[in-house]
Formats: sequence, structure tokens, C-alpha cells
Amino acid sequence: MTKRDYYEVLGVPRGASTEEIRRAYRRLARKYHPDVNQDPEAESLFKEATEAYEVLSDSQKRSAYDAFGHAGVQPGAGGFGGFEGDPFGINFDTIFETFFGGMGRTRRGPRRGADLVHHMTLTFEEAAFGTEREIEVTRRTVCPRCQGRQAEPGTSPSRCPTCGGTGQVRRTQRSLLGQFVSVTECERCGGSGMIIPTPCEECRGQGAIRATRRLSVQVPAGIDEGFRLRLAGEGEAGDPGAPPGDLFVEFTIQPHPLFRRKGQDIHLEMPLNIVQATLGDEVEVPTLNGKVSVRVEPGTQPGDAHRIRGQGFPSLQGSGRGDEVVTFTVIVPKHVNEKQRKLLRELGESLEIPQPQETERSFFDKVRDALGL
Ligand SMILES: [Zn+2]
Ligand SMILES: [Zn+2]
Repeated sequence: MTKRDYYEVLGVPRGASTEEIRRAYRRLARKYHPDVNQDPEAESLFKEATEAYEVLSDSQKRSAYDAFGHAGVQPGAGGFGGFEGDPFGINFDTIFETFFGGMGRTRRGPRRGADLVHHMTLTFEEAAFGTEREIEVTRRTVCPRCQGRQAEPGTSPSRCPTCGGTGQVRRTQRSLLGQFVSVTECERCGGSGMIIPTPCEECRGQGAIRATRRLSVQVPAGIDEGFRLRLAGEGEAGDPGAPPGDLFVEFTIQPHPLFRRKGQDIHLEMPLNIVQATLGDEVEVPTLNGKVSVRVEPGTQPGDAHRIRGQGFPSLQGSGRGDEVVTFTVIVPKHVNEKQRKLLRELGESLEIPQPQETERSFFDKVRDALGL
């Protein structure tokens, strides 16, 4: 890629003073700035001039350019004066802004509607099986009278007389650098170039109203605490021409009197009496789908667990289901009648008297020993 000599670009001699360079650039910028000149070639001429100015107005960069030409100010050229980074990464607007002051040409686009959050409390069962719920949402919504067009039906927007439909107002200003034209967003039309002579009566020209709507929410099976469900496009209406926001439903799950949830599994404590635990039994265990018969092995110890496959929560990702984990506890009777006491005494005579058992030292015991505590 051939690049023009920076002095030639600015049209100044090699020995030009900083002031001459500054003046030359100002003249070119006013001529080629895209706000002023719609010619497609103007933008590249503006960038070329800005790049030349960026180098020649900086004494270090200028001497590197004088000594080595474009190579002296190329990235990776090394040594004194090289640009740090891409010379084409120059923020032309920023340089122009610092040179000429606020000549902003940024026009704010229509804004997307805001997102909304709705809190929903579910029972344990609703979370497991899913449900359908009606909710009421009060939100900014597209005006039904004008369909968001802001003008009263039968009337139409017209061109802004202040800016003539361009959305911009030009003012000639004087500054230390001389006289120049500043372009600002038109205050009357907000930069849109259009005004609404007869605003819609219902929304007073806002294009949107606050309205309460009933929505049906399909809650999928397997919802967990803190999960957010996204209802795309059910948030607030955006500016005309912009998409609406989303509605997020956040869940709280009520605790269950019997069940506890751990991930996709459901945990249940199942009490046994000493005879059931000793001799074994067949017991009815509650699950979310009703009672299930579970065999208790003879000699079941407190803390022994039994897993009922597929009785947990379904996966939100589609396939698979957790289990119900039944943990047995053994209830020691607090009160016994005469007959029971007699039977237990008889039984007691034939039972071994348990002794403390040597247990494996726990991790914490080992740590304590190692620390000499
Ligand atoms: Zn309206
Ligand atoms: Zn205007």
C-alpha cells in the first residue's frame, strides 16, 4: 500500500512550523469531515489528514518520520518514535473532538425495552411436576391506539421545521482556533428529524402506556430454587422500532414437611422400631408418586440407606430423573408397658453386652496428633 507523504497530505513544506501544520489540518478537516462532506471519498481524505496531523504535530513522531519516513512511525519499526499499536487504530473522532471541541455526531438509536423480573413461589410438588400459572404483569406496552406510532390515528408525523428533517442543528461558533461550524442534535425532535403535531390521546405521544396483562406461565418440571425462566419479549416495550425486553421468572420453593431436596435426589428419613430393624420388615415409604413398598433387611443399622430409583426430580435438561434416598433411623421406645418390659428383659438376658469398639482414627485425630495438641 502506497502512502502519501504526510507533508504533501497537509500541503505544507518540510520545514513547516507547528502552527502551519495545525492550520493546514484545520482547513482540511473542515473540508472533509464526514459531518460536513457527504462525498464517500471525503472520509478517507479526512482520515489521511488526521493521521498526518497526528504524526507531524508530535515532535518525537515527526523526527522519526523525517528520519525514516513511514517506516519510522509503523508499528514494529522499533526505536524511537514508533507508534505503539496500529496506526490505523487512531481514534479519529477523538483527535477531531480535542481539536475542534464538541462536534458530536453520535445519534442515539432506539432503545430496547427493559427486562422485568417476577417472583414466583412454588410448592415442592409443583417444582417436581411442573405447573401452569397465571401471573399479572404491569409493564410499559405498545400503545393500542396509535400502535406505538405516537401520532393520533388519522394524523401523521411531519418533518421537523427546526432542523428541516436532518435531526441536526448547525451553528457557527467562534473559538480560539477561529470560526467553525458545530453540529448538534436537534433539541426539538431529539435527532429524529420528525415531530408529531397531533400526539396520540391515549399515550400522550409516548407510543407506550403502562398496562396490566395476565400471562400464562408454563413452569417446567424440575425447577430448583434460584432458577430463572426467561420469557422472551414479555418485558417492557422498547422505543418505536426497537425490540421489547424479556420477562424473567425467579423461583422460591416451599419446604416439604417430609422430603428434602439435594440436587435431583429427594431425601427422606424413615423411622423403624427395634424389632423391624432387627428382624427385617416390609414398609410403606412415601414418595412424590404415592407409597412404595420397601424391604428392610434384618439387622438394619441407623443410617443405612435404600435408594428408590427414579423417584427424584426430573432433569431440566431433558432426560433422566433423580432417586429418592431413604435413610433409616431406629426408634428406641421411651415408655414400655409391663408385658413389653418382661419380654425385653428376657431378650436382654440372651443378648451380648456391647463393648466400646476400636475405631479407626479420624482425619482430625491425625491432624491433632501431628500438631501435638
Ligand atoms: Zn398512543
Ligand atoms: Zn429537528
